[in-house]
Amino acid sequence: MNPFGMNCYVMWTGPGGQCIIVDPGMMSQSEKDMITSFVDGNNLTVKHILLTHCHVDHACAARWLSMRYGVPVQAGAKEDMIATLMPAQADRFGLKIDSEPLSIDIVLAQGDEIDFAGETIQVLETPGHSPGSLSFYCPSSSVVFTGDAVFQSSIGRTDLPGGSYNVLINSIKEQILTLPAETVIAPGHGDTTTVADEKVYNPYL
Ligand SMILES: [Zn+2]
Repeated sequence: MNPFGMNCYVMWTGPGGQCIIVDPGMMSQSEKDMITSFVDGNNLTVKHILLTHCHVDHACAARWLSMRYGVPVQAGAKEDMIATLMPAQADRFGLKIDSEPLSIDIVLAQGDEIDFAGETIQVLETPGHSPGSLSFYCPSSSVVFTGDAVFQSSIGRTDLPGGSYNVLINSIKEQILTLPAETVIAPGHGDTTTVADEKVYNPYL
């Protein structure tokens, strides 16, 4: 999605079933259509809209999607300020976005559990890239959505407001690398990887 190449994820149970949408960063109409045609075309019920964090490239269509499907926006408490600064974030990168004002409807914290079609999604606080960044761990599916905490062989930038390199490294080591080795890391940018691979190949870790 968008000029930042952000990964929006739709996790679904199959045609006619349910889905969650992680990081709806659609900026163009064609990107919005891509998501809604998938959801509507498969007759899916959107159960949750989850934000790993509220940077514009991850969250700019969150309110739009929320209104379309009548589903609350869920994110970490410390993202509130960043969410309200969405237009300023867009300006900073020279982007013209048509984004509805974003506020967080359901505040998530470490240890919260989100029920989705028999899968219990665990909320992990992984700050550092932004102050309230979350990761979403799905143990039954063996996947974790990490947003901009950790990427294949890289980590998120820490020079944006509220970022901290040391906090980010601690987050990754304590929350992500402690997951089972085979866990698939589904990051906010780039290809998927695994906990095992990042332990060995990630030069920042
Ligand atoms: Zn970000």
